[in-house]
Amino acid sequence: MIPVNEPSVAAGNEIKYLTECIESGWISSEGPFVKKFECEWAQYVKRKYCIAVSSGTAALEIAVAALGIGKGDEVILPAFTIISCAMAIIRAEATPVLVDSDITTWNMDVNQIEKKITSKTKAIMAVHIYGLPLDMTPIFALAEKYQLFIIEDAAEAIGQSYMSLPCGSMGDISVFSFYSNKVITSGEGGMICTNDASLNTYCRSLRNLCFQDNEKRFIHEHLGWNYRMTNMQAALGLAQFEQIKTHIEKKIHIGQRYNDFFQHLDCFQLPLPYTDYAKNIYWIYGLLLKEHISIDAQQAIKWLCKKGIGVRPFFFPMHWQPVFIKMGLFQNEHYPVSEYLAKRGFYIPGGLNITDEQIEKVAKMIVQFSELTNTMAIDEKSSNSLIPKE
Ligand SMILES: *Cc1c(COP(=O)(O)O)cnc(C)c1O
Repeated sequence: MIPVNEPSVAAGNEIKYLTECIESGWISSEGPFVKKFECEWAQYVKRKYCIAVSSGTAALEIAVAALGIGKGDEVILPAFTIISCAMAIIRAEATPVLVDSDITTWNMDVNQIEKKITSKTKAIMAVHIYGLPLDMTPIFALAEKYQLFIIEDAAEAIGQSYMSLPCGSMGDISVFSFYSNKVITSGEGGMICTNDASLNTYCRSLRNLCFQDNEKRFIHEHLGWNYRMTNMQAALGLAQFEQIKTHIEKKIHIGQRYNDFFQHLDCFQLPLPYTDYAKNIYWIYGLLLKEHISIDAQQAIKWLCKKGIGVRPFFFPMHWQPVFIKMGLFQNEHYPVSEYLAKRGFYIPGGLNITDEQIEKVAKMIVQFSELTNTMAIDEKSSNSLIPKE
């Protein structure tokens, strides 16, 4: 089986730094690697402050809370994203307002944002999808015009830039995840980035149960979380950060190899190699079955898994999530492009440890699959009963 993603975690100083943690006894969030990782990351993404946390999801929750977003407020976000984005808004008791995707970039369709803005809108959650940045210029303009915060989710755009601006440098608050499938990993982990001194202080406090200093330590003015990153996570993250350039080059290499193999195939829309403002770094390599193909992503995934290829479906859009439907959210809302992406998109192996031989093996299977789509000799049944029937 070729796994969909296998991290590379022993090529640099990972073992050395982790051993340092154990030998020195600095295993909690108090250890020196946490501050070092924060400082290095701040420099890398050109921010004044970075706050290391336990996950990207935690980073989003703190970001929403730190901006004072709560009951009665609305936050705009893409329908096609990970649940963490919507969850952070809902946990703050605010209302998520969805926007459909762009069929070519798979990012939020920036032309559909303005009609969703109301007097209650407080922020736009700008999520970069699958390694290609969101078009930020219209987001900046709308934020300015309507006095909105930008919460930038750069978890899938580590090492990516929008024109000359690093992803993660463009939000009032920006967040990253260092989950094991991201471009660099700390196992679990995340980062919050901002240039605002008071947001920095508040995020640090929220991460650490809102303890106060000194004699008032156990007196709390706000509700926070324990979302601290451990020294061991930071040690791993820092060792990975030292190799970030190699990691990005590898991702681009994987993407370009796949592009070469699939260029001529008629059944897939491939990831967009570049836009006016960025080149794709192929955090993951997605394939989208074209409209004239009669089978869907579920069937393709089943067939490829049987052949030993690790494949995953694209995101399932927020307005179809059973948990949100049960909460009465997004009733009778439709986002045709997000729905199309969910029904027809999947991604193929592209972990940092993948070899050229494995890439070739995957590619050959995909080509074989594409020939079957022409003859429709695929007897896999689609099994996703959550997708509404047309
Ligand atoms: C991975 C990811 C997250 C969540 O990060 P975790 O560290 O897994 O909690 C949030 N947003 C996006 C866009 C992601 O890809």
